[in-house]
Amino acid sequence: MSKYSVAVNGKWCKSCGICVAYCPKKIFALTAKKKMIVEQEENCIGCKMCENRCPDLALTITKKEDKTNG
Ligand code: SF4
Repeated sequence: MSKYSVAVNGKWCKSCGICVAYCPKKIFALTAKKKMIVEQEENCIGCKMCENRCPDLALTITKKEDKTNG
């Protein structure tokens, strides 16, 4: 399970594909209809390359709570 959660604000995302291009782990994809989707959130390493590059501030990466310690 991913340590990070990738939230997309669907009202702001225009599916430009910038995050698809920049993500080093390739967690994003564009569908056949050119809609951006988070395809492999479990591979997110929390680098925030996407959050910092999204021109529409549509992405928010947050660290999930560590539940292994109780
Ligand atoms: S960079 Fe932002 S606007 Fe562009 S596809 Fe990704 S989330 Fe959507």
